[in-house]
Amino acid sequence: MNFLYVGIDDTDSPDGMCTTFLASTIINELKANNIEITGFPRLIRLNPFARFKTRGNGGVSFKIAINDDNNSQINDIELAKEIILRNVSELSMFDCDNTNPGVVFYQGDITDEMVDYAFHAIYDIITIEEAEEFASKIGAEIHKFKKGRGIIGSIAAISCPLEDYTYELLAYRHKDKYGTLRKIDYDSVVKMDKETYPETFENIDGKYLAIEPKTPCPVLYGIRSNSPEVLEIARDIVIPNEEIVDYCIFKTNQHTDMHIQNVDKIANMKQYACYKVKGTLKDNPHVIEGGHMFFTLVDESGEIECAAYEPTKNFRKTVAKLRQGDSLELYGGIGEQNTFNIEKFQVLKLNDIVYENPICKCGKRMTSAGKGKGFKCKHCGAKGSMKYIGKKCIGEQQLSRLKETDSTGRRVHPYYVYGKVSKFRSAYRCTHCGWTKYEDSTEEYWDDENIMP
Ligand code: ATP
Repeated sequence: MNFLYVGIDDTDSPDGMCTTFLASTIINELKANNIEITGFPRLIRLNPFARFKTRGNGGVSFKIAINDDNNSQINDIELAKEIILRNVSELSMFDCDNTNPGVVFYQGDITDEMVDYAFHAIYDIITIEEAEEFASKIGAEIHKFKKGRGIIGSIAAISCPLEDYTYELLAYRHKDKYGTLRKIDYDSVVKMDKETYPETFENIDGKYLAIEPKTPCPVLYGIRSNSPEVLEIARDIVIPNEEIVDYCIFKTNQHTDMHIQNVDKIANMKQYACYKVKGTLKDNPHVIEGGHMFFTLVDESGEIECAAYEPTKNFRKTVAKLRQGDSLELYGGIGEQNTFNIEKFQVLKLNDIVYENPICKCGKRMTSAGKGKGFKCKHCGAKGSMKYIGKKCIGEQQLSRLKETDSTGRRVHPYYVYGKVSKFRSAYRCTHCGWTKYEDSTEEYWDDENIMP
């Protein structure tokens, strides 16, 4: 079976449209003309640091089965191309300088060099010229609108292998509602989350409806899942308080960490790429104006400033609990400011500062006077309360609890490793002196207490 592969990218702008909606509109018109696509349309997230991205740097692709011997099929292909190009030229946000749509048609096998190109688009930066050259090398037909930058992502969306994947169901609003406040029944989303998690994920974060975009695009909500069947169940639970004109389920590389490269040392990391890297905190995390949280990560090769920016919200509270000397595995990428933007982390080892009882005025070390009773000196009989400032510690205060996990790193909240299914170790730490204690636990627990500095 041969296929016509179709890639579409760069049709939207911060003021509107969404390439997934455009693709869904096209797929509906193809269907009305008895042209079916094979499998799910795909939403492929590429390098998150691509300069001209609108939001998540996603390109869309789908495929149509063709039979070369059959004349009517050949006509279908011509009709399909006409429908696709017409919709892109009618619906794209051409007024925006940064909207430069590109459509790519490709017939043939997905070759190894195409797979390499897709990873190149996920890991690095590609120019329009490079993409154009590559298209001509593989015999792909390109259609550039304005500068046609979208061909970069369109070729990658067609070429990207999807061994690991998730699904996203997108519900689209009536166009009269674009730019207005979205109306989704909060309780129904809570119910949906309760009934379908963990097969669906990232639905809500406290009062924040994570399924709801905050841009004026046509999407009312997007539900992420490991299974398309569960998505349909979830969709039926969510109550929209406004009209939904269409739904479409995309197969996607979101939440698979495909963009993350392994790197052995900090010195080998490059700007505009995403990595998983191990290191140790050189200093305690600190907050700057605007609520951005920073610390420096070091290893034997060098150091890098790491950031949890304000939009990461509650994640910063978790970062705030880290201390100098803690060993971590961090996931994230190096952006414009040359800081490593943390997506999530796993604690490898907390910096255990050895607990020492305080030294008495007479020079001898004090001993515990009993639980909650402070310290006493066996030598001179002096007593010290918990407020006594000793050499290292004033006592064992359980002030914070960190969560570690041996999570496989998949299907997790983008900002932190979320030990929902795996066994994890809890650690208690005295925020005064840094003393820590581990405790093995299988309990599910998330400590959200506010200890932001
Ligand atoms: P949305 O997610 O809302 O669909 P977006 O964030 O995907 O929008 P686009 O408007 O599609 O943003 O713009 C991204 C642009 O970056 C496209 O032109 C795409 O071809 C291009 N692009 C994708 N990957 C790379 C890359 N690795 N290097 C350079 N350009 C890239």
